[in-house]
Amino acid sequence: MTETLEKPIRATEINPKFKYEIAKMHGGEKLMRCFQCGTCTSDCPVARFSDTYRPRQIIRLAQLGLKDRVLKSDTLWLCAACFTCTDRCPQDVEVASVIRVLRNLAAEQGIVPRVFTEEGSSILESGYAYRIPELRLKKRETLGLPPLPKGNVESIRKTLHDVGFFKKCVEKKGE
Ligand code: SF4
Ligand code: SF4
Repeated sequence: MTETLEKPIRATEINPKFKYEIAKMHGGEKLMRCFQCGTCTSDCPVARFSDTYRPRQIIRLAQLGLKDRVLKSDTLWLCAACFTCTDRCPQDVEVASVIRVLRNLAAEQGIVPRVFTEEGSSILESGYAYRIPELRLKKRETLGLPPLPKGNVESIRKTLHDVGFFKKCVEKKGE
């Protein structure tokens, strides 16, 4: 995020309607209440271990209408959704929810880090977020452990279809 803010801001980058777009979405309503006190960043367990992840800056980029910068920022995906920031914000900004809204907008544009698209395709294939190596499955057998339960892929696909995931994210990405 530091990199994202280090570049000078050009007037042409600013989308004045962006904050209203966010404020219309569930969880994003209180975006404009933020007065940049920094409490969210100082209490964030991820920011503590990162030189670049700063929830306060994400909120500021969104308020300023720097849509492309914030949606294309890798750090957007570092949030662990622990909601500490939301609990501590003196202005009742739902910081974690704003970040979720921003991620959803990024995903609709096909901007999702590879690690998550791989995780998603694994869930669609097997119901598991992680492709379990064949060797490990065999090892279970040799240890006398029962086979892993099968993931309900059909149900997952139906849910994702019903929430428009394929239309919004998968097809969009392939455009
Ligand atoms: S704690 Fe709330 S008011 Fe303070 S910077 Fe974070 S979002 Fe803004
Ligand atoms: S929800 Fe995300 S931004 Fe908020 S404190 Fe947790 S990791 Fe940090």
